[in-house]
Amino acid sequence: MSRPYNFSAGPAMLPEPVLKRAQEEMLDWHGSGMCVAEMSHRGKEFLSIAQQAEADLRELLAVPDNYRVLFLQGGASLQFAMAPMNLLGDAKQADYLNTGSWSKKAIAEAKRFATVNVAASTEQDGTFTRAPAQAELSLSADAAYLHYTPNETIQGVEFPYVPETDKPLVADMSSTILSRPIDVSKFGIIYAGAQKNIGPAGLTLVIVRDDLIGSPIAGTPAMLDYKTHADAESMYNTPPTYAWYLAGLVFQWLKDLGGLAGMAEINQRKAGKLYAAIDGSDFYANPVQPDCRSWMNVPFTLADAKLDADFLAGAKDAYLLTLKGHRSVGGMRASIYNAMPEAGVDALIDFMAEFERTRG
Ligand code: PMP
Repeated sequence: MSRPYNFSAGPAMLPEPVLKRAQEEMLDWHGSGMCVAEMSHRGKEFLSIAQQAEADLRELLAVPDNYRVLFLQGGASLQFAMAPMNLLGDAKQADYLNTGSWSKKAIAEAKRFATVNVAASTEQDGTFTRAPAQAELSLSADAAYLHYTPNETIQGVEFPYVPETDKPLVADMSSTILSRPIDVSKFGIIYAGAQKNIGPAGLTLVIVRDDLIGSPIAGTPAMLDYKTHADAESMYNTPPTYAWYLAGLVFQWLKDLGGLAGMAEINQRKAGKLYAAIDGSDFYANPVQPDCRSWMNVPFTLADAKLDADFLAGAKDAYLLTLKGHRSVGGMRASIYNAMPEAGVDALIDFMAEFERTRG
């Protein structure tokens, strides 16, 4: 049986070639006689896996030499705290853009450490349907940094541009990293939970500029200090070795496909055809301002919410899984990260058309 298409927002689909390779290597990685999960993180086998993964990621994202790549734990949620703890220094303030559920959580966490200046908010009646324009940002002169969420996973709202600031720019890229090329040099910190476009849950990627490492606020525990992890090459304590290995296989898969420019083309095409199908029907709707629509997370509603359960049941029968929207938004959400084949999006569009024809 071929595998179903899984539209989960995360943990999400992994590329099938990656899973097959992991299966082949499960009992005996490259003649070592060990599964990667059984290896010492300090042994030469795992060190070679770790170093290759970092080198491949650096190549994919063209990470400049003055940035460190850290393979951490704690999810993006821990970065909501680590970023302020490491960047605030003597400053008392930080700028945040409020564009959806995840930036809201980042703001709530930062308030434990700093006075948060919400430099722009696009919240209207509890919903978010767009990113603010650069001209709408009222940045504070005293802020230590500017934090934003390039892609809001729940609302499906994406920034069509990188905000400009003369302070370090901190980006929660959990649900958009590796979906297209980016200019890393515009950012002070990029962080992302792995479970969407990188690999399995349990790994958190942090890309941090050298000069932002080493001045945490007083009382910062060693595990929450970027310097601890930078100095120890992400091996201060036992890292999530198997997740790191699988992430490395994903990076190799991306390189084999030709890198992020090619991936971006495919992602844009996948999202474009799904939004076109939604916009072309009176039965489905997406509320997001067209230039801020996410390439990765596509929420949509049915004209009659009473049909939601039937839609989901029918989709499941058609091998289209996990389309239920986030509980805070309702409706449906199709997450179409890198590993979602274009054929999966085509199958969803066909199913939607047929459901509308028979039930709409
Ligand atoms: N930020 C964004 C944009 C997310 O999508 C998520 C998870 N869905 C998080 C943060 C939280 O990530 P984690 O569960 O890895 O802490």
